[in-house]
Amino acid sequence: MTSLTDLGVAAIRDGVRDGTFSAREVAEAFSAAVAGAKALNAFTVETPELALAAADAADAARASGDLKPLSGVPLGIKDLFATKDVQTTAGSRILEGFAPRYESTVSGNLLAAGAGMLGKLNMDEFAMGSSNETSGYGPVLSPWRRNDGRNAALTPGGSSGGSATAVAARLAPGVTGTDTGGSIRQPAAFVGITGIKPTYGRCSRWGMVAFASSLDQAGPMARDVRDCAIMLEAMAGFDAKDSTSLDLPVPRWEANLSSDIRGKRIGIPREYRIEGVPAEIDQVWERGIQLMRDAGAEIVEVSLPHTRYALPTYYIIAPAEASSNLARYDGVRYGKRVSPERGNLTDMYEATRAAGFGAEVKRRIMIGTYVLSAGFYDAYFNQAQKVRALIARDFERVWESCDYILTPTAPSAAFALGEKSADPIAMYLNDVFAVPASLAGLPAISVPAGLNGEGLPLGLQIVGPALDEQGVLNTALALEERAAFTARPEAWW
Ligand code: GLN
Repeated sequence: MTSLTDLGVAAIRDGVRDGTFSAREVAEAFSAAVAGAKALNAFTVETPELALAAADAADAARASGDLKPLSGVPLGIKDLFATKDVQTTAGSRILEGFAPRYESTVSGNLLAAGAGMLGKLNMDEFAMGSSNETSGYGPVLSPWRRNDGRNAALTPGGSSGGSATAVAARLAPGVTGTDTGGSIRQPAAFVGITGIKPTYGRCSRWGMVAFASSLDQAGPMARDVRDCAIMLEAMAGFDAKDSTSLDLPVPRWEANLSSDIRGKRIGIPREYRIEGVPAEIDQVWERGIQLMRDAGAEIVEVSLPHTRYALPTYYIIAPAEASSNLARYDGVRYGKRVSPERGNLTDMYEATRAAGFGAEVKRRIMIGTYVLSAGFYDAYFNQAQKVRALIARDFERVWESCDYILTPTAPSAAFALGEKSADPIAMYLNDVFAVPASLAGLPAISVPAGLNGEGLPLGLQIVGPALDEQGVLNTALALEERAAFTARPEAWW
């Protein structure tokens, strides 16, 4: 018999419903896997007692005939979501020991749907990073290794690195991630799993620690498209507590899944063919294009002319919003406080922030403060806002000639720990294919599409028009069925 930890969200939900196994058995199996995987550093807090309590409630619900959509499914929650009475750090030492008195809307929605929580997932500090190395709690390791015998430890990507590793290493069947400029899609690609960032406003940001509020979106990461659809349905929905929440009903994404994409026009944006990207990325992209053709889709070349400005635009807007959002960490309201022996209130703020924030967060606060300063606001922030509008307009126009867009998710496979951490620009370049959809607020998914020559997963991204998560999921399902990606990391332990 396959181990229970080999099962995904749908298989667990259905197995609990059918009585093939109990929710308690599932929660015990995953909790044991989490406890045995400390070397990967995927979790900042483990909460087996919460997973088991939810499982017992699910088993009782089955007995009384009122199962909920996620009854019996244990999940990992990225540490960016406030979880009631459970430490919530956003990967930062400045929030060490902070146990919120409230539950974020998204994690609360999952719990209300019957899911249990296995623990909080490690992440880049305040979700700033592409490798999980900026975490105040140490880097997360990918369960994958290159097949070159050198055995270098690889990053799972970021900022949802703990989330990615947890799913890939079979520590959780599904997890939450957040995506400001690729943090669901890039880690999903690095570890060979699926992750979707929905349309901006689909999932409430309430109780999600703010990084760049106009970009931040929650989404699921799981083993396949169906599991993502199930989770997203439970996570999404209008929330009066978030002023940018979309007041729209949640579609029935799972029930309407269909891999029939015959006649759909798949756009291949020519500006995404950028110099210096390794041949293996072009190859997996070509493979994806062929698979879409095999599925009966029509391939059309399209243009998104402002693509090359997306990365610089993102790295002005995101730090600007971050510098404002992070002003709240003052040693008074949350977590850590450092009081110098001498000095006034300002000295306490400075000492707290100096000790509590890591180097990348400080860099972003400085960039953000600079681009918002009176002398440079027009040259940087204001200009970036205008370019953002042009990028969004590129997409609006492109939907006249295609239904969805297919691109690589990231410009490389997973890299080694330490490989890029000394070079912030090299790290930022990793987001080149992810940030345009973020700036335009569009739904985008990453699907594993093949392995490179070193035996590492490569992902492809599908972007769709606002609110068309169904079409994005369906196109992804067509790709998933044909790519038939079944590789998994060799037992890492
Ligand atoms: N890597 C990007 C950054 O560092 C995106 C992060 C994210 O999506 N949270 O800002």
